[in-house]
Amino acid sequence: MKILLMGPPGAGKGSQSAKLVKEYQLTSISTGEMFREAARNNEPLGIEAMKYIHRGDLVSDEITNEVVRKRLLESDAERCFLLDGYPRTVSQAQALDAMLLSMDSKLTAVINIVVDKEAILERMVGRRVCKKCGLTYHVSFKPPKKPGICDDCGGELYQRVDDQPESVRNRLNIYERKTKPIVDYYSGRGILKNVDGMQSFEEVYKDIINALGEVQ
Ligand code: ADP
Ligand code: ADP
Ligand code: ZN
Repeated sequence: MKILLMGPPGAGKGSQSAKLVKEYQLTSISTGEMFREAARNNEPLGIEAMKYIHRGDLVSDEITNEVVRKRLLESDAERCFLLDGYPRTVSQAQALDAMLLSMDSKLTAVINIVVDKEAILERMVGRRVCKKCGLTYHVSFKPPKKPGICDDCGGELYQRVDDQPESVRNRLNIYERKTKPIVDYYSGRGILKNVDGMQSFEEVYKDIINALGEVQ
């Protein structure tokens, strides 16, 4: 299984990806999470990426492609992976195709999670993330048992700098202009499936599993 999970920021990619990765033992490749982790560890990559991230801008294709290229070459990504948040531009999608081709590999499914614009802002503003393990919560839709504390690992929950309304607006704009065209890029290959993201966590998950069954 080589899956790509797409959709606007706040669509539920991270939440669904966490479940899928556990259930199917997939290697999770989330460029956003990789950048945030590099920033937490004060690595040069993280410091450079944060310059863009905190404004809600995209990190350059050059940096992002290189990070993914290295990750795909690691042994745990050879058979099964789930990409979340990459590619985000047509140029990244072309770069990914070239990388996979050179590895004699290709994507088996592209799942596009579709959500209403109004829901996105509410989801992002209420999102909280565990500092320690990266697990995602929502103050209303998926509250932790103890406020501010991760159920899973006891880590502290924080609000991402790019989940402030100012950055959110910019990210949605960028999504419309740069990322949405990728849907056209993949449609026509017979591996793209749209899933209604305006349902409960469980229903969205079920629909993703069904969609995967249809393309494999
Ligand atoms: P993405 O990775 O696409 O940006 P997330 O998985 O981080 O999205 O979800 C964004 C926010 O919305 C999180 O706070 C998450 O808990 C919440 N969320 C995700 N899916 C749903 C859903 N189906 N119903 C309600 N809230 C959701
Ligand atoms: P979300 O799912 O909420 O959009 P991500 O965690 O996927 O958030 O990404 C957070 C930020 O990291 C993006 O707004 C962008 O600045 C940067 N980023 C992540 N993936 C990419 C990518 N493929 N290309 C460029 N920038 C990226
Ligand atoms: Zn945690």
